[in-house]
Amino acid sequence: MELADAFGIGGEGGAMWVAVIAAAIVVLIIAGATFRRRRRTRAGNPKLVSLEEVRRAKRRSAGRSPEAKPQHCSLCRRPAGRLSFYVDERGGTIGVCRACKPKAEARDLDRL
Ligand SMILES: [Zn+2]
Repeated sequence: MELADAFGIGGEGGAMWVAVIAAAIVVLIIAGATFRRRRRTRAGNPKLVSLEEVRRAKRRSAGRSPEAKPQHCSLCRRPAGRLSFYVDERGGTIGVCRACKPKAEARDLDRL
């Protein structure tokens, strides 16, 4: 029992310590492998990327597609099929119907 001798332990107790140390080493190896695998999946998971793309596409279509649920003009609050988007004075985005477009233009807002 060389390892037990190195720790200055002999007999039955030494064998037990060797088993405990071996188990600790195994646990460390498993933990290390798991950690490495997690980092790899986080770095380049194709599923995560595609999900993010789908979410972005949804947001895009919700903002501009005429098929989306009726949108309301930010100025007159009436539902409008197609809105023009501008950045208002506070930096927020507003959707403007065709009737209110001249008002937005008069405020000199940046068109998106
Ligand atoms: Zn309007």
